[in-house]
Amino acid sequence: MSRPLRHILSADQFDPDFVTKLFANANRTKANVEHERRHHRIGNTLAGNILYRLFYAESTRTYESFGFAATHLGMSVLGTQSVQFSSVAKGETLEDTIKTINSYLPSIIVLRGQAVGDAARAADVSRVPIINAGDGSGEHPTQSLLDLYTMRQELGRIEDLHIVMGGDLWNGRTVRSLAKLAAKFPGNRFTFIAPPTFEMQPDIKAILDKAGVKYAETTKVTDVLPDADVVYWTRVQKERLTETQKDYLAEHPDTHEKYTLGLKEVKLMKPGARLMHPLPRVGEIKTEVDPDPRAAYIRQMYYGMIIRMALIEWTLGYE
Ligand code: ASP
Repeated sequence: MSRPLRHILSADQFDPDFVTKLFANANRTKANVEHERRHHRIGNTLAGNILYRLFYAESTRTYESFGFAATHLGMSVLGTQSVQFSSVAKGETLEDTIKTINSYLPSIIVLRGQAVGDAARAADVSRVPIINAGDGSGEHPTQSLLDLYTMRQELGRIEDLHIVMGGDLWNGRTVRSLAKLAAKFPGNRFTFIAPPTFEMQPDIKAILDKAGVKYAETTKVTDVLPDADVVYWTRVQKERLTETQKDYLAEHPDTHEKYTLGLKEVKLMKPGARLMHPLPRVGEIKTEVDPDPRAAYIRQMYYGMIIRMALIEWTLGYE
């Protein structure tokens, strides 16, 4: 009997055992890719496989890092970010597009959908694994793994952390997936900093409550920075704002400034703490912070490619 397809749809599907194995594989993958690059080579462990990237919404890091990850493994890489020039513009359904791509025999489809649940819809009709690369304001499961891997690399642990998440927590899918995943590791607790109307959504808070995970909420940025192990900052998701949020921003034009981190704020953090951001930033972390050793968001992108290499291997059945 053939084994079930290894789709990656939600952070819900990962448990600490999976994460432990994945991170061990990622460390091995990291050593391999660094070795290959030193010799101006790329790996070939997955040669003969094809990764297809189908992106219905904007992306730089997720699109490119999956492409590079697959290339470093020797896969062939195809994809489109120009769905406006495809039959999607003629009204083709997601299901029919997935069936079309399936007809050309890819090994994996990485999908960035427009709406919550798109990846699950695709998985229902696909004969190859679907990797959810972000579905509207739903989830971004591979980002949550790369975020946690960054914490492991930078802080040496993924337990007993005070994780401060700030910015547009309502519309940000990365913070939703990361909160769910980090909550599965003992001793982690959260502080959510967001302007009114941008707070973490109730479904995530309900999950934390049910799991007995501690969290606090505040609107004041500087209060909790000195106690944080990780500060995870996010941008306002201007493409997804509700009418209430638009009104709030119009009435409080200083919101962006209040939620901007510069060196003055980052210096309040512990020397060993780390500042992360899924990127893109649009001013909410000043570039003056970049040289500070606490700024981990540039290194985070590299860890992202490594974790996606390990995830591609897992999806294809290699562990
Ligand atoms: N790149 C991340 C995402 O796709 C974060 C963001 O866009 O703000 O969700």
